[in-house]
Amino acid sequence: MIIKPKFRDYICLTAHPEGCAINVREQVEFIKKQKHIDSPKNVLVIGSSTGYGLASRIAMAFGAGANTIGVAFERPAAKSRTASAGWYNTAEFERLAKEEGLYSKTINGDAFSNEVKEKVVELIKNDLGQIDLIIYSIASPRRTDPITGETYQSSLKPIGEAYTNKAVNFHTDIIQEVTISPASEEEVESTRKVMGGEDWQLWIEALSNAKVLSPNVKTVAYTYIGSELTYPIYRNGTIGEAKKHLEQTAKILNDKLKPINGKAYISSNKALVTQSSAAIPVVPLYIALLLKLMKDKNLDESCIEQIYRLMSTKLYSEEPLDESQIIRLDDLELRDDIQREVILQWDEINSDNIRQLTDIEGFRKEFFKLFGFGHQQIDYDTDINPDVDIQGLVQI
Ligand code: NAD
Repeated sequence: MIIKPKFRDYICLTAHPEGCAINVREQVEFIKKQKHIDSPKNVLVIGSSTGYGLASRIAMAFGAGANTIGVAFERPAAKSRTASAGWYNTAEFERLAKEEGLYSKTINGDAFSNEVKEKVVELIKNDLGQIDLIIYSIASPRRTDPITGETYQSSLKPIGEAYTNKAVNFHTDIIQEVTISPASEEEVESTRKVMGGEDWQLWIEALSNAKVLSPNVKTVAYTYIGSELTYPIYRNGTIGEAKKHLEQTAKILNDKLKPINGKAYISSNKALVTQSSAAIPVVPLYIALLLKLMKDKNLDESCIEQIYRLMSTKLYSEEPLDESQIIRLDDLELRDDIQREVILQWDEINSDNIRQLTDIEGFRKEFFKLFGFGHQQIDYDTDINPDVDIQGLVQI
């Protein structure tokens, strides 16, 4: 198959197996050059195939030599369709982990279901005994509640009043004003059901009930707080409400984990181009501006750099970490000088000067790279087999 990018809005419908494999290899190479992370050995990553979750799995496997179980929800190739990027990423991760002699298994299925949780428990019992670290990195548009069977959709809307701001079509560089109507109470609640902490809590309870959590176990979930500029659509919007619920859940989990001296953390990460962030209204233009400002000051970090910093200087550093505090990996994004420039320049940006004032080109490159496109060393006119197996895959 000749595989070229085929996109609709902020979704790319195709992915390139070799391009995705290169992305994974680049992250592995980065992590191998860093100082060893002195961390526990058995790690579960929920949402392990792309973005922050993939970077977390790579950091723990290749930076700490950990055994990893990954949970993801990805699509294999079918007759006329490529697999999803996360499928190809996972295939390369598993190949490299095996090459390195590391234990790794991936469960491909709905992390929100009881079935997947039961399968993970069975795997831990059979293969690892106990888990030392659980990373929760799910971003999903919907969730079926495993108890009631009801399906909830998440939404990206302001709360209370309509929100108008500019947004870019990052394929054309055209900026237009968008108005997003406020969410109904039902939409706020549905988003909380999908992206709040309920499922994280169910995971920790399932693992705890099965007695597969090791003494001193740690768990971390990722949140985003962001700039005042995006507060109406993010922090003070439906997704922000869900994230506040996730943050509250860390407190509940800390109480639950006390008897085994376990700790639950929230890490507030930097805004980065991922499949999820590209879908949030207004945010792509904010990220394009941020990319320019942070690159100019040599402050920009990728997913793998963020996660290496999290693991080596926060979660597994010698300095004791207070679990009641949110870990701030967004400190550089939110530095006063950066945010002052964001606010100053935002009003100036239009379709004519977007290439000068922001790094929209960098945003676009990062977006296509997520799907394995844009690598100089790949001839995208060459036929390639889209059907790639994942070693160690457990399909649910
Ligand atoms: P992403 O879309 O790249 O990754 C999402 C992962 O979740 C994938 O591995 C996917 O397979 C998995 N997933 C989705 N639904 C699933 C399901 N039902 N069952 C099993 N797996 C499922 O997203 P990301 O941007 O890396 O986000 C991960 C977390 O980090 C989210 O909580 C997000 O809010 C947070 N975060 C993201 C940013 C950002 O800018 N991207 C910033 C701060 C925090």
